[in-house]
Amino acid sequence: MPLFGAIEAGGTKFLCALGENPAEPRDILRIATSKTNPLDTMREVIRYFEDRETVAAIGIASFGPLRLREGRIGATPKDAWKEYPIQQAVEWGLGLPTVLETDVNAAAVGEAVAGAGLGIDDFAYVTVGTGIGVGIVTNGRLVHGTGHPEMGHIPVERHPKDEFAGCCPYHGACLEGLASGEAMNARWSVRAEDLPQFHEGWTIEAFYLSQLCRSLAYGTAPKKVLLGGSVATSPGLPAAVADETTRRMNGYGVVPEIEAPKLAYPALTGALELARRRHGK
Ligand SMILES: [Zn+2]
Repeated sequence: MPLFGAIEAGGTKFLCALGENPAEPRDILRIATSKTNPLDTMREVIRYFEDRETVAAIGIASFGPLRLREGRIGATPKDAWKEYPIQQAVEWGLGLPTVLETDVNAAAVGEAVAGAGLGIDDFAYVTVGTGIGVGIVTNGRLVHGTGHPEMGHIPVERHPKDEFAGCCPYHGACLEGLASGEAMNARWSVRAEDLPQFHEGWTIEAFYLSQLCRSLAYGTAPKKVLLGGSVATSPGLPAAVADETTRRMNGYGVVPEIEAPKLAYPALTGALELARRRHGK
């Protein structure tokens, strides 16, 4: 069986991995993301693959926004990475076929082939971490449109007790501006992961995330919405979001099942799977 490579490019760290079977990424190496010079990070990524067995293709799952057709990172607030041609850097650096996808879309592919989306043609993968990303699978395929969807930035109704202005640099009080890990941190002066389980912050979080789930339900009618990312690991959050989504939909339309994803490294599994498909072309 051919060997494939995966890169998960994040704002604080890059992960590199190998795998014959996408469900089992192995030899995972963590590389710190340079804030000032992408070349410093990419040099280590290239070295990782040069030091190992040759792979048939590499899947790259990157933070966005991405200009997928050009293989570039788009207008990110991470200044040094703005317009960075990440796909060419890997393809030319190693002389291997590559495929580029957003981290959240790759995670959706990972869950589809080996996790909570297995055997399901219609579901969404939501990651709530520093930002909010949404990957949508309909009829077994990722939704791309002209680029990739950005449902983390939908407008939301404000919680009556929430006076936080919102922290999205583009929209202020959009979903990401009010419900991302960064927003929770700024509102409560504590990391979301350290907020006690019964803190009212979680009620407010469920209030916002349920609006995304309702929009997903009415937009693409997914069977499941998988809630992933560091913020969503809070116990009780998926159930609270499910209850609030049911209340909001008020008996109209089918409420998706809201649950946690299954994989430890969904984006790496997705990147390996995308590399496998790229190789098969
Ligand atoms: Zn926004």
